[in-house]
Amino acid sequence: MIVSASVGRVRCPACGESETKVVDSRSADEETSVRRRRSCTDCDHRFTTFERVEEVPLRVHKRSGSVTDFDEEKIVSGLIAACKGRPLTRADFEQIAVRVGEGARSEGGDVTSEWVGLAVLEQLREMDPVAYLRFASVYKGFDNLADFEREARLIKVDSEAAAASEAAEV
Ligand SMILES: [Zn+2]
Repeated sequence: MIVSASVGRVRCPACGESETKVVDSRSADEETSVRRRRSCTDCDHRFTTFERVEEVPLRVHKRSGSVTDFDEEKIVSGLIAACKGRPLTRADFEQIAVRVGEGARSEGGDVTSEWVGLAVLEQLREMDPVAYLRFASVYKGFDNLADFEREARLIKVDSEAAAASEAAEV
């Protein structure tokens, strides 16, 4: 039985009584859900619930003024498209999306689409400087070579290190 924490009272599945007593409680799933053993105050029926902690909804404010929900999957699919051919896995992109979400949460849950893009870039830069450059060229919409070169200089040290490690692997 999975119960969202926002649901409030948990009814007894046997008799429908709304007063139940928690007899045991332990966290499951890295603290995002709690497993509770409950007993009904009316019929004494015992049952177990998995109660999920409601997370703060993350909202992304677009430049156009519209607001959408933060969508991890959108970040992952954007990265998959931008990072073709790079030695990065879907798990890497999911990790980036999760970290960006955590960052957004620590910002209070309301961020701009620009903030999201930069946060993704920041994570990607640490993971794979070459993929970072490629994503940056798409995301930031570099319209001339000078922009691209300026960005390339900023991460020159990082990408040289990456190139060196790639060469070492061959
Ligand atoms: Zn009951």
